[in-house]
Amino acid sequence: MRRFLLALSAIALLASPVAAAPGDRALEDVRILSADDMEGRLVGSPGGEKARAYILGRLRDIGLAPVEQPFVIKRRDGSETNGVNLIARIEGSTPDGKVMVITAHYDHLGIHDGQIYNGADDNASGVAGLLAVAEAFRASPPKHTVLIVALDAEEGGLRGARAFLETPPVPAGDIALNINFDMLAKNARGELYAAGGSPNPWVRARLEALVPTAPVSLKLGHDTGPDDSFDNWTYQSDHGVFARAGIPWVYFGVEDHPEYHKPTDDFATVPQAFFRKAVETVIAAARLFDEQLDTIPAR
Ligand SMILES: [Zn+2]
Repeated sequence: MRRFLLALSAIALLASPVAAAPGDRALEDVRILSADDMEGRLVGSPGGEKARAYILGRLRDIGLAPVEQPFVIKRRDGSETNGVNLIARIEGSTPDGKVMVITAHYDHLGIHDGQIYNGADDNASGVAGLLAVAEAFRASPPKHTVLIVALDAEEGGLRGARAFLETPPVPAGDIALNINFDMLAKNARGELYAAGGSPNPWVRARLEALVPTAPVSLKLGHDTGPDDSFDNWTYQSDHGVFARAGIPWVYFGVEDHPEYHKPTDDFATVPQAFFRKAVETVIAAARLFDEQLDTIPAR
């Protein structure tokens, strides 16, 4: 599997267009965020801080003014860790009070037994997608106000998302939709999943409209069944905190792969052609949900 993916990457590199596309910048973001000097981006670690500095710099380069949202994680053993979410606001061109919150977690597992868990797919890829969406909305503003949120401390309990909704920068009632990216980069069949449509017909209709034109093979699902079942992803990443709060949500991500939560989840195992298409897909999705957010039923 790994050999196959590496071969794919080499072909994708040769076939890359010279002109800058969202995918080029996103690949560079993944490469940088999953490099060994980020030390696996564990919450509260120097590697996590380095990743945060990089994301802050990127958001500022895009022309945004990100703010930090620090929070404290209290462990069962009494120890404490400091997490920090990053929040950048993009004003809507025709704001109607509805806010779309787009999230991706930047933390990962750190270093264990001398092995760096680089987390290229999980979730440097989602952060890269988040930055690509931010860039697209800066170039051509959304209708509604959008919060671009890089969350900390997803691994081990969705702590960053919980902290975000405990003290949200806008009234929680104004948040009309959460779009979450977690693992956009790796699937051998070229499939990206979009979850969140089954519990919400409005979301499902928009996702179904996206499927025919999506650059990837976009599959809907993983949002039904018992809460704790492996196949139901409703509470398996940060969107789960929004779901529990009754906020409509959409999650984009791939199914698990052999590198999931392994030190081999690094840049070299990212199938680049697929990841480029995944980034284009989530940009198109964010655009569509923003354009039609007026019609989302009040809750
Ligand atoms: Zn993740």
